[in-house]
Amino acid sequence: MTMSFVTLEEILAARRRIAGKVRRTFCNLSPVLTERAGVPVFMKLEHQQITGSFKLRGATNAVLALDPETRAKGIVAVSTGNHGRALAYAARAAGARATICMSELVPRAKIEGIAQQGADIRIIGRSQDEAQREVDRLIEAEGVATIPPFDHRDVIAGQGTLGLEMVEDLPEMATALVQLSGGGLISGVAAAIKARRPDVRVIGITMERGAAMHASLAAGRPVEVEELPTLADSLGGGIGIANRLTFAMTRDLVDDVVLLTEEEIATGIRHCYHAEGQVVEGAGAVGAAAILAGKVRSDGPVALILSGGNIDMDDHRRLICGGTA
Ligand SMILES: *Cc1c(COP(=O)(O)O)cnc(C)c1O
Repeated sequence: MTMSFVTLEEILAARRRIAGKVRRTFCNLSPVLTERAGVPVFMKLEHQQITGSFKLRGATNAVLALDPETRAKGIVAVSTGNHGRALAYAARAAGARATICMSELVPRAKIEGIAQQGADIRIIGRSQDEAQREVDRLIEAEGVATIPPFDHRDVIAGQGTLGLEMVEDLPEMATALVQLSGGGLISGVAAAIKARRPDVRVIGITMERGAAMHASLAAGRPVEVEELPTLADSLGGGIGIANRLTFAMTRDLVDDVVLLTEEEIATGIRHCYHAEGQVVEGAGAVGAAAILAGKVRSDGPVALILSGGNIDMDDHRRLICGGTA
């Protein structure tokens, strides 16, 4: 069943709740991408967020929105990495215990990052759905709360604070390029942008390999796709057959979706390193990659998000030295 969309008021409330607990990240003009696109291109440096991704916004908002008794019992979640890391940090900051369940496909660097935040970790199965079943079991057996990575109002509202910052810092923006996986980021960002600037086009960027939201939009309902290894590992995973919010919000608020090949994503990571001086993970680089691939048209300034920087540094080094990771 579809719920009412997350509102601008909820996003403004999220901003008040997480103020001082997350960073307001900078926007940089990219001369190289500007040259390539023929219009100014700005990058929001959200990979410099605490915990290395925007996920801290939604996680912090959702943890603080729990009632204190529930929070005290602890929080469990399934994650491809960045949500788990953010949730571990947000829980600790709020004095709560976090247990993070994840699949075997999650890279080692991400698992270590989560362990360092003090969370308990459980590795279960070869897909996010199998890890989710362990979360369901813990909720049932121990009565703990869960905060899902995207399909949750408080998570979406928290991610939406990023959209508010884009509107305020880049009032001239005509097009926003936003990573698209489960759709929590783009639902929040599009809700914020369209409330303030309905004329701005919001374009979802994702990979060709296992693009669950794209397949679902084409089918007109949430569908499952096979989960495949990709350089943009933070964009992997399904949207949930029982999706309540992000499918409908993405369908109604997002103007277009662009799909990228693995080689295009690799080019994006290399670009961010060599031309921008930024270490960015595959998912974080897809906005830049879409411009470099010539897959985005805009009549005016473009804003994109470097959404995360959590990449295994050995994989990163191999990639920027010309390898395939
Ligand atoms: C989670 C994530 C995304 C995608 O966000 P969704 O809300 O699942 O669409 C993009 N980039 C990074 C770095 C992420 O961690």
